[in-house]
Amino acid sequence: MSPIPDLHTHSTASDGTLTPTELVARAGAAGVRVLALTDHDNTDGLAEAEYAAAQHSLILIPGVEISVTWNTLTVHVVGLRLDPANTELQTGLARLMEFRAWRAEEIGRRLAKHGIDDAYAGARALAKGRLVGRTHFARLLVNQRRAADTNAVFRHFLTRGKPGHVPGDWASLEEALGWIRGAGGEAVIAHPARYGLTRTRMQRLLGEFRELGGVGVEVVTGSHSRDEAFTFARHAREQRLRASAGSDYHGPENPWLELGRLPPLPEGCAPVWRDWPESEPRMACG
Ligand code: AMP
Ligand code: MN
Ligand code: MN
Ligand code: MN
Repeated sequence: MSPIPDLHTHSTASDGTLTPTELVARAGAAGVRVLALTDHDNTDGLAEAEYAAAQHSLILIPGVEISVTWNTLTVHVVGLRLDPANTELQTGLARLMEFRAWRAEEIGRRLAKHGIDDAYAGARALAKGRLVGRTHFARLLVNQRRAADTNAVFRHFLTRGKPGHVPGDWASLEEALGWIRGAGGEAVIAHPARYGLTRTRMQRLLGEFRELGGVGVEVVTGSHSRDEAFTFARHAREQRLRASAGSDYHGPENPWLELGRLPPLPEGCAPVWRDWPESEPRMACG
């Protein structure tokens, strides 16, 4: 039984490989009691996840992971407990999804110039008609044996300076916080160690984020080492932000990262879920 909630997961509504129903069933079987579905830049999986959660007596937290451009850097902001019916939120997300649709075709064109034909069609087929993200291109190129694993595809084809790279044109930090808060949600900076920021620039990001009404930092995530969890627990305390925990689960193809295995928050963290009424009975505070 996972004593802490999992507040960051993906389904086929973005670049996860499990449908919302499959994701919720797997989380329930793994002992997760409180689960947030946080697909990239859309909330299309939430209704199905909510229905499935009721079957598995699991509390589903409606969420989203918004792509943000902050000083030319792409940063992810997770929104939790938001109302997906909010118009401003959906208008904002629709703009990002439009950019994603164009970017996917552009990635395809750039890879074609590099001698990799039909990548857009291939990625689109893997995405089964939903959002086509870089992860789908990565899976395609692994299937075509152009790289050993998805991480290698990112390094050789999809990141800055590489043939399939298309610069992001995402939401501003202010817009993302505005959409999340306007929809009644709480904003959390996702997987902060992934941005490669110096301590000073991280403090600047977290400071601006808090000024804009952000509430938390993902201290425990699938991509953080234990040391990184301690580092960001300290950042959170210094910036008077709360601590969140989420696996960033994308599916069973990544066996090193399973649902229901999150370690506890480091001592002294104030969990983002501390005052959440609906999740009180079964949730221990870290
Ligand atoms: P996108 O939002 O479409 O630009 O793609 C970002 C997603 O790609 C992230 O949410 C991860 O799921 C995945 N990703 C990013 N970097 C890597 C990497 N180095 N290896 C594998 N997957 C990655
Ligand atoms: Mn992803
Ligand atoms: Mn992310
Ligand atoms: Mn994610």
